[in-house]
Amino acid sequence: MDNLWSDQDAKAAIAQHAAKGIGEDLALRVYTTRLLGGEPRLVLHGGGNTSVKTRLPDITGSAIDVLCVKGSGWDMGTIEAPGLPAVRLDPLRELRSLQALSDEDMVNVQRTNLLDSKAPNPSVETLLHAFLPHKFIDHTHSNAVLSLTDQPDGEALARDVFGRRAALVPYVMPGFALAKKTDEIARANPDVEGLVLLKHGIFSMGATAEEAYVRMIDLVTLAEKRLARETRKIFPGATLPKDIASAAEVAPILRGLLSQPAKAGGREAAQRFVFEFRTGPDILAYVGGKEIARYSQQGPVTPDHAIRTKGVPLVAPAPQAGKLDLFAKEAKAALDSYVGAYHAYFARHNAQQLVPKKELDPIPRVVLVPGLGLFGVGNSSKDAKIAADLAETTVAVVADAERLGTYQCIPEPDIFDIEYWSLEQAKLSAAAEKPLARRIAVVTGGASGIGAATAAAFAREGAEVAVLDRDVSKVKGFAIACDVTDPKAVRAAFDKIAATYGGVDIVISNAGAAWQGKIGEVDEAVLRQSFELNFWAHQSVAQNAVRVLKAQGLGGCLLFNASKQAVNPGTDFGPYGLPKAATLFLSRQYALDYGSDGIRSNAVNADRIRSGLLTDDMIAQRSKARGLSEADYMGGNLLGLEVTADDVAQAFVSLAKAAKTTGAVITVDGGNIAAALR
Ligand code: ZN
Repeated sequence: MDNLWSDQDAKAAIAQHAAKGIGEDLALRVYTTRLLGGEPRLVLHGGGNTSVKTRLPDITGSAIDVLCVKGSGWDMGTIEAPGLPAVRLDPLRELRSLQALSDEDMVNVQRTNLLDSKAPNPSVETLLHAFLPHKFIDHTHSNAVLSLTDQPDGEALARDVFGRRAALVPYVMPGFALAKKTDEIARANPDVEGLVLLKHGIFSMGATAEEAYVRMIDLVTLAEKRLARETRKIFPGATLPKDIASAAEVAPILRGLLSQPAKAGGREAAQRFVFEFRTGPDILAYVGGKEIARYSQQGPVTPDHAIRTKGVPLVAPAPQAGKLDLFAKEAKAALDSYVGAYHAYFARHNAQQLVPKKELDPIPRVVLVPGLGLFGVGNSSKDAKIAADLAETTVAVVADAERLGTYQCIPEPDIFDIEYWSLEQAKLSAAAEKPLARRIAVVTGGASGIGAATAAAFAREGAEVAVLDRDVSKVKGFAIACDVTDPKAVRAAFDKIAATYGGVDIVISNAGAAWQGKIGEVDEAVLRQSFELNFWAHQSVAQNAVRVLKAQGLGGCLLFNASKQAVNPGTDFGPYGLPKAATLFLSRQYALDYGSDGIRSNAVNADRIRSGLLTDDMIAQRSKARGLSEADYMGGNLLGLEVTADDVAQAFVSLAKAAKTTGAVITVDGGNIAAALR
């Protein structure tokens, strides 16, 4: 592993922090924490922490000894000084005399000794940092150290590799007991550069930031060199079908199976999940291995993965192309057996607890699909990505472990203790979900106007949003460049969305454009062109949506942007109004034909919205032609109020939430009796 320390960068960090009144100790602590956090083979999603012991003034101005230690919620790769809250050191060190300390009491004493009451919670490994005497302490979950120690004879291997340079600490769950144990071992070995926590990770210590960091790199490099000596072939392949179905076909089936049916409210209220797909040669070798049932079901490579990924992943059957029904049947059987095993695992270990735990949902957070790759599963795209990152790390660590010997992690009772750790449970259940969380929404024509407002509104409600538009260069977030009048492009876009998020729940078919012409004289080409975008594109979007929705079996919601023209034609607007009228009818036809699948279909009838359809120039022209001010023209409705793109977006959102409404049209036009539906 490369040593990335640079004197120049260190000096720059000191200067930048000095300008903010932050001292050299903390500046260098931020600098090397970022170096460690930027390397995924050392630190991934909270899997590590750092500290420095320094002196800071309290409110009276007198300097006191503090421990600046990584705070929860900060990413080491991008950490800043406030991410290393200062805790009074002496009260922490006094805890060493205790025999035991509950996690809750530990968190409380850490918080009550913060210099800043608004600072984040100090790391759960804070006491370990406090008890050790060294000024700078670095902790990572290095892949190489895990591959080396996640072995039946991991202790002997580690002793051989690190010799006198590091002391070994047997596995103890993080918290007070681990802090005590580590302190005891460190005192017995005062000259070591680091401490190897078997089946967990590694600490390095130093008098300076550079020394602690370089020791971490050196120790990890020793482990890497040992692993590099092994050339054994691993993961002998299982026999798989020659043609494997695509991720786009497989994901909605798995998403439908994993999403738990709600006790009340039917398909609409199912507990959905969002997916993240990963594949590549290393993943394919791992998921396609003959012995996948052994090495994939041992448990996490380092304990804290269990909080995000549960103890073990689901192994799905290999999906043969063209035989998706068989895949769905076999995958359901595999999931049923996973869920049964999870309940049994919970019951087995819960019986041993002094205070009974509340069982978490039994759904896997990683799905391995032989021949295809792996899916991370989460309550949001962000969580699914984290699960997928951890799964990829697992593949790398287990590969090296198997090349060296046999992968073996901590035993099941210890995995349970981490998965059901009260501190982590509190963290995970704290956040209330937004109304459309776990839903995947697609907005066509989402780059501007009503579409952009709609995409933003659905994102605010917690949905994962995919924007389709001809030009998506200015779209922030997930977007696909797509001409919706090209059925092949629409299909490819839906496949990409299914492969990216796992499926689709809500589709807002919004893309449209206005063509004008007196209907008896208009060029046929103009009328046909308008029908392509204002009718056929809606049909092709809805058809693809239904294809994915039916594969999921979770119901779904189609929303169409109709227009006032669909019910109240305007002079010379035939080329626009005719296909829009057909689209309004299309919305009702989908409501009728797919109601029994739980798929709802509704439309919004908007009028006179400032957008790509009705440009500022057009507004100026039209208001002038009518002898009105622009404000009077735009507010020329029963309520006398201008209607905005966001008003239309809110109508789409309310229809998406209206679980028992289908075949409806909502008008968003400030009131226009001539366009009122009857
Ligand atoms: Zn750790």
